Amino acid sequence: MTVAFIGLGNMGGPMSARLVRAGHRVQGYDLAPAARQALAEAGGTAADDLASAVRGAREIVLMLPNSDIVEAAVRDLAEAEAAEPGAIIVDMSSSEPLRTRALAAALKTRNLTLVDAPVSGGVARARTGKLTIMTGGEPADLERVEPILACLGTTTRAGAVGSGHAVKALNNLLSATHLLVTSEAMLAGERFGLDPELMLSIFNSSSGRSGSTENKWPNFILPGTFDSGFGLRLMVKDMRIATSLAEQVGTRDPLGQAATELWARAADSLEAGADHTEIVNWLRKDPR
Ligand code: NAD
Repeated sequence: MTVAFIGLGNMGGPMSARLVRAGHRVQGYDLAPAARQALAEAGGTAADDLASAVRGAREIVLMLPNSDIVEAAVRDLAEAEAAEPGAIIVDMSSSEPLRTRALAAALKTRNLTLVDAPVSGGVARARTGKLTIMTGGEPADLERVEPILACLGTTTRAGAVGSGHAVKALNNLLSATHLLVTSEAMLAGERFGLDPELMLSIFNSSSGRSGSTENKWPNFILPGTFDSGFGLRLMVKDMRIATSLAEQVGTRDPLGQAATELWARAADSLEAGADHTEIVNWLRKDPR
């Protein structure tokens, strides 16, 4: 099966390589030449442009930074009539749910189908094919793409198109809020004289446990590597999607908004490419 894969970055790189290893013919495109080169080395075909990447593909996977870029890519494809008639676009990026819904409706008039299938699990689980994938779309459309998704992780259908993107943004609002308050607690404990590893082991067998105490602090923050592969600015984007969703549906989210504001301040103060685990460095340097 020929699969087009657009966006071969931190996540798209290992995901497209897994599809190659599973026996798919992968035609990939990324703006960055190094990312295209990496796909070629993994056994895929690096295309010189978007239109060549989608030629002959019944499935077009997108793993791009945000909805602006997804919409521009899809618009280019539709206007150039580059995609195969009846092709299905799988947006695995963390995009904005209402924009996803509008895009899917617009594409329908051009005989193209769009489903959303964002992921959680980060670069490590992208490499091992153990991502959590949350999908949105018509059951028959999701059935078409599930064999590909099975090479990348475990899929749960979240509802109509856009539902995967909604639950993904809400998940990251939780994850970012946990990480920020975990970092606040760890810094206070350290200053008090507690041993950081001991604190984590106590949290991990107590009610303060989360992905931040089990994974992010021990694997990326304590060793000082800050190399989870998920950019801090992408996290802020996801948090804004979640808080704007709450606003659009009319629910209160004072804590989510406060956390988003703090993360946005960190994004302004840290370098553009900072990993999201560097939030703790912002806390350390920002005077009380
Ligand atoms: P990334 O910045 O590493 O990769 C994005 C890639 O898209 C880059 O290689 C870039 O060159 C390419 N690109 C940008 N515009 C393009 C265009 N018009 N045409 C072709 N290629 C283009 O980002 P990432 O970490 O791989 O994240 C991708 C998506 O997955 C984001 O929506 C992010 O929020 C989400 N996500 C990331 C992680 C993670 O741990 N990194 C986890 C879950 C979800």
